Amino acid sequence: MSDQSYSDTCVFCKVGKGLVRADIVLQGDDIVVFKDIHPQAPVHVLVIPRQHVTALWEADQAHMPLLGRMLLACNEVAQALGVEESGYRVVVNSGADAGQSVDHLHFHVLGGRKLQWPPG
Ligand code: AMP
Ligand code: ZN
Repeated sequence: MSDQSYSDTCVFCKVGKGLVRADIVLQGDDIVVFKDIHPQAPVHVLVIPRQHVTALWEADQAHMPLLGRMLLACNEVAQALGVEESGYRVVVNSGADAGQSVDHLHFHVLGGRKLQWPPG
């Protein structure tokens, strides 16, 4: 299965293997949470699977347990960083029109300020 593979051209695969330095906030067997290098809010972290999945559009039923754990990791990191009660937003950019710039599935968790809606 392609989603089990490691891509040696993918920066987030390298974060997942510890080959690229990241400011890691939480990690587990199959998920890593680290600070975004260009934060858009006081709290801005990325939740990634260690395995390579290109984007949300590539996910299927086989990824359901992983996707569930990623969402719960969003809750966990929001609590750890103190924005669980004030509020936070989970964003998944999937594909070009959404502005996805790194082709490895990631959930943004943003908080610590009042966020605007709708997004641009
Ligand atoms: P997206 O535009 O949804 O694909 O989001 C990619 C995010 O990854 C952007 O917010 C970048 O700032 C962030 N990013 C890219 N490379 C790194 C890195 N090496 N460490 C942490 N964040 C990164
Ligand atoms: Zn990858």
